Amino acid sequence: MSDKGNLIVLSGPSGSGKGTVRQALGRYRNNLYYSVSATTRAPRPGEVHGTDYYFVSREEFEQMIEANELLEWAEVYTYYYGTPRMPVEDALNQGLDVVLEIDVQGALQVKERFNEAVLIFLLPPTPEELGARLKGRKTDAPEEIQTRLEWAKREVKLLNRYNYLIINDNVEEAAKRINSIIEAEGCRPFCQCLNSNWLD
Ligand code: 5GP
Repeated sequence: MSDKGNLIVLSGPSGSGKGTVRQALGRYRNNLYYSVSATTRAPRPGEVHGTDYYFVSREEFEQMIEANELLEWAEVYTYYYGTPRMPVEDALNQGLDVVLEIDVQGALQVKERFNEAVLIFLLPPTPEELGARLKGRKTDAPEEIQTRLEWAKREVKLLNRYNYLIINDNVEEAAKRINSIIEAEGCRPFCQCLNSNWLD
């Protein structure tokens, strides 16, 4: 039994709408903590250091690994991505629900360390739609888009390791479903503080 927050892992190919759905989810829940990852990829236009990612060099990232500062990390496409450990642990201890937007490799590492983590996979309705979304946002070169599509198909093969699948055909509906999942997870017996008089 604990009054710690829920640890929610949201995975899905880049272009599946994780960020948009998470923002919509924020309108349903006021205790969400979004974990900002570190990455060695270059910022896209409009991305802000410390808000979207911590943009770091490969050397800096490798130092973070060495110093055990990352809860999980993975090499995705040719870049490193990882979750800073301390902010997540602090937020969980404060009772906040923590959302990690990370890939499948990272999600499985988190599940190893936190068995109670809730793994949610978000997918667009079809691969064709994913391709169209990636092209539409005009931030990635055609060969980068091709890599991301192939990566997505590989990730889908590991869907059975997840607790939930959400098809993102409508952002608001997807956010509502994730909100319901968090509500239900919070009702699991080990997630609740029980009045000690029940245990006399
Ligand atoms: P993007 O470059 O499109 O922002 O992200 C590429 C992929 O890296 C996405 O699948 C995203 O979920 C994943 N990713 C982002 N941050 C992290 C992280 O901290 N750890 C891991 N393992 N994957 C991450």
